[in-house]
Amino acid sequence: MQKSFGKKCFWLVSLLAAGNFWMMWLSPAVAWGPHPEITQAALDVLPEMEKWKQVLGDHNIRQLTQYCWMPDNRGRDLGPFYADDYLLIRKVPYHIGHTMPTVQLAFEPYFRRALQALRTETPTNACRQLGPIIHFVEDVGAPPHAKVNCPHHGELENWVNAKAIKIEGYRPQLLGKTDDEACQGLKRRIDGLVVFSAERAERALPLVSAPNPDRSKVEPIILESALEAARVTADMLYTAFKLGLEWQAPAEAAGLKGAVTAPTLPANEDQEAQVVLAETDYATLVESSKESDQHQWRGNFSFRNLPAGEYTVVVYRVGAQPATTKVKLEPGKTAQVEIQLQSAEPAGNLVYNPDGQLRLLGNQTPDRWTHQGKTYTSAPITLKRRMTYVCGAVRKDPQAKIFFHMPGVQRGGQPTPPPIRKELPADSGQMELASDPDHMTIIVQVQSTKPLTEAIEKVWVCAVPGKAAPEETKPEKTKKSAKQPVLQK
Ligand SMILES: [Zn+2]
Repeated sequence: MQKSFGKKCFWLVSLLAAGNFWMMWLSPAVAWGPHPEITQAALDVLPEMEKWKQVLGDHNIRQLTQYCWMPDNRGRDLGPFYADDYLLIRKVPYHIGHTMPTVQLAFEPYFRRALQALRTETPTNACRQLGPIIHFVEDVGAPPHAKVNCPHHGELENWVNAKAIKIEGYRPQLLGKTDDEACQGLKRRIDGLVVFSAERAERALPLVSAPNPDRSKVEPIILESALEAARVTADMLYTAFKLGLEWQAPAEAAGLKGAVTAPTLPANEDQEAQVVLAETDYATLVESSKESDQHQWRGNFSFRNLPAGEYTVVVYRVGAQPATTKVKLEPGKTAQVEIQLQSAEPAGNLVYNPDGQLRLLGNQTPDRWTHQGKTYTSAPITLKRRMTYVCGAVRKDPQAKIFFHMPGVQRGGQPTPPPIRKELPADSGQMELASDPDHMTIIVQVQSTKPLTEAIEKVWVCAVPGKAAPEETKPEKTKKSAKQPVLQK
């Protein structure tokens, strides 16, 4: 199951890499197809919707039909935020599988994290933080996710008429009156959904594995699962809104507001900053302010209903150095902080956590890096079209090997272009790579037997101002030219 997700993920990575636009969401052909329709069906029957809209905003609630894709976009830059800003939390500091049985690890932590966001963060952040729990609840209702090691994964989650997903007349249930009760209630509801959808997988499997499968016979079975997934999603959302938004904060709760400035980052200017209250589960994003200009990025963040006490506030935005400040929150009061982020060195570095020093998730591995064997892999960096990038590193371990890997952009039905993979020569600190329509992402890989922070001092990928990549040509020609090495000296 991990394997099938890995493949899926690679496809997503490539597709998302095709640009750097606001909200680059996708409807993958090989994922439980109707996520937005299931979310919409759930929203359509939600009791007290006017009330939730007033608190959260109509726009944020509508965006839930996009945020529900978030876990299928792991690692990706989704415009103003990275999917991992909401996917990686201290209770789940790594990416988890989306099928039974591993997906069971997702429900309680992401449900509780969403409640926390509804109580303490801005409506925008709270709705984004609902993305993971919505996705995992919906996913486990897909027959091949409910049945362990299910063959014919693609057919069993895509042979469904998404337009038919409507549950009008369904009355969502409150899954519990307290957080603990709601977690238990959600678990029971999920257990029921898994049995329901695994049974649909058993019924549909002989049909999809027949020599000439008749899709029209399979669709009604998969639809039953989609409808039940929508009912469970409606229960979960109703419970989250009731418990999250009607929660009475203790009178001694405190607030924190902050204004953040950072150097501009023209190659990824829409990116927001992350704020973490160190050693706690409290984290949010600094939303971009209209006062940002070409000299400085500005943003604001806020928390409410926090326990009073002393906190260490850490703010990080890609392209800048992390900043830390201490703050004391007095009961019943809101503290204000101003934080100025200094430029990363070199300026404009697009690698998230380029020196591996940021470890706010309480993980062994530095934040936003993955580690397998002796290879550390960075989060993917989305490139602008036709830009040249200078890619480099300062090694601490002279034996460390550093690669800049550009996966090919896959387009439906066409063969994936081969990746571009360049090793940083041992005697050189940096080299140039250019984006082309077939290669719109860079991933940095560091191979060393030492921990990342002992293997490198830092790595970087920076856009070269004013240096566009060679002119794009017609698609046929582009294909040919993409096979040429794009390394430029
Ligand atoms: Zn999924």
